[in-house]
Amino acid sequence: MVIVGSGYGAAVTALRLAEAGREVLIVEMGRAWNSPGRDGRVFCKTLQPDGRAMWFKRRTEAPISNIFGLPVVDQPITPWAGVLDRVHLSDAMSVFAGRGVGGGSLVNGGMAVTPKRAYFEEILPFVDAAAMYGTYFPRANAGLRANTITAAALASTPAYRYARVAMKQAATVGLKTVTIPQVYDMDYLAAEQAGTVPRSALRQEVIYGNNHGKRSLDHTYLADALGTGRVTIQTLTRVDGIRREPDGTYVLALVQIDERGHVVRRREIGCGALVLAAGSLGSTELLLRARDGGALPDLPASVGEGWGNNGNVMAARWTNDRVGVVQSTMPVAAIDNWDDPVAPALVEITPFPMGFESMMVGHLAVAKIPERATLRYDAKAAALRADWQRGDNAGAIRALKRVMDPMNRKFRTAYRADLFRGGRIFGDDFCYHPLGGCQLGKTTDAHGRIPGHRGLYVNDGALVPGSVGVNPFVTITALAERNAAEAIVPDLS
Ligand SMILES: Cc1cc2nc3c(=O)[nH]c(=O)nc-3n(C[C@H](O)[C@H](O)[C@H](O)COP(=O)(O)OP(=O)(O)OC[C@H]3O[C@@H](n4cnc5c(N)ncnc54)[C@H](O)[C@@H]3O)c2cc1C
Repeated sequence: MVIVGSGYGAAVTALRLAEAGREVLIVEMGRAWNSPGRDGRVFCKTLQPDGRAMWFKRRTEAPISNIFGLPVVDQPITPWAGVLDRVHLSDAMSVFAGRGVGGGSLVNGGMAVTPKRAYFEEILPFVDAAAMYGTYFPRANAGLRANTITAAALASTPAYRYARVAMKQAATVGLKTVTIPQVYDMDYLAAEQAGTVPRSALRQEVIYGNNHGKRSLDHTYLADALGTGRVTIQTLTRVDGIRREPDGTYVLALVQIDERGHVVRRREIGCGALVLAAGSLGSTELLLRARDGGALPDLPASVGEGWGNNGNVMAARWTNDRVGVVQSTMPVAAIDNWDDPVAPALVEITPFPMGFESMMVGHLAVAKIPERATLRYDAKAAALRADWQRGDNAGAIRALKRVMDPMNRKFRTAYRADLFRGGRIFGDDFCYHPLGGCQLGKTTDAHGRIPGHRGLYVNDGALVPGSVGVNPFVTITALAERNAAEAIVPDLS
């Protein structure tokens, strides 16, 4: 039994299969982030990145490139098996993704948000919402060890001054603000603030990994899975192709590399059951290559369709109030503008921990937009592509403006135009939340099984049809719990 990838869908599937007595091999292209480098840190410093920062890049490619209009953020690095990848799908869209044991949980902002039930029912009408909200979302949040900052801590923690400033200004113009659960340990954060433990969230760490405090999957689901004694993780090994023997065995072509990227071994392994959980892009790419390359020609024609960016767009505004020099990288608050009939969105209040008083507040919108793209594999360029165009994010920008414009008007403040490439006000050409490509109930059956391919499953963000209205990992985890409990474990036990 093989699982490709070690992010949210993979970690859940591995744990539940192992608990049911199955031996599981996880194949993960990134490394295990559990041993310190020569500087004593597992992950590099955010403002002094090295090869650990990014997946085989010569230069970092951070979401924000400029400070005061100067392109000073990105720095040259040695190509290495780093933790953050940026995959360029088209001129108008690139996708950030985690690489390593734990997938996106190693690099993400830790916001653990359960979607609005009405929207969940709208996007996945055939999924039993009562079971999701009664059983699988609670199970996912427990497995992820989500916790919520207390009202007292949010009101007083110096590192959340930026959140308080934004919440107050939002409330002044009549917007609703909410506290958001986190997988970062809020007790650890309090200890950081008190100066009794090494800093991580308070030391600008997030997109290149957190050295402390973060309950990433290697500390939760994957640790539990390994604890069963039935799960093995093969790291630095990429699944490069899937074919099938006449007896039904799936054969995976594996390419193992060292941390500098040199190939150390190529081999094939066979398995009777295969779960693709390599993320929206990874799982879709493997299926596209198998179908279009002729190895699995009967895969559904819909593979690649229904891909979306979850309505992601980013921007920042000047404030007329101080937001604090030391800011927690772990967002705990948002503006909930989901009731806006024109352009609904959840708008995160994000930090910009630049190490000086920046007088700015950032926002990442997760907007409800209908735009979807189709992913295809360009064999010549050996790259995944999407027909996503710049204008496809116009609805997300509109949703973000409906939150930020009233605050700018009221407080006589302005958008910052000095952060993104080309002087853009809106960071609309990248996303953190790739979703879809192997949609539940379209490319797969209602539980992630690929029709006509016994023993082949998808169980990750590729199942979610392009948008879920909030940050997605709780949804991905809960759907994976559901598919494991209702299909994968019963099928394979
Ligand atoms: C900077 C950033 C911030 C984010 N913040 C949040 C947040 O606050 N809250 C939230 O809910 N979501 C957030 N997200 C999104 C969230 O992390 C993803 O939605 C989630 O990780 C997707 O889970 P997954 O199981 O689909 O795949 P992933 O977590 O992406 O895991 C897929 C794994 O498969 C591996 N893989 C891919 N292809 C292959 C292959 N061919 N062979 C072997 N291994 C392979 C990858 O290396 C990776 O480890 C953020 C993402 C980023 C990048």
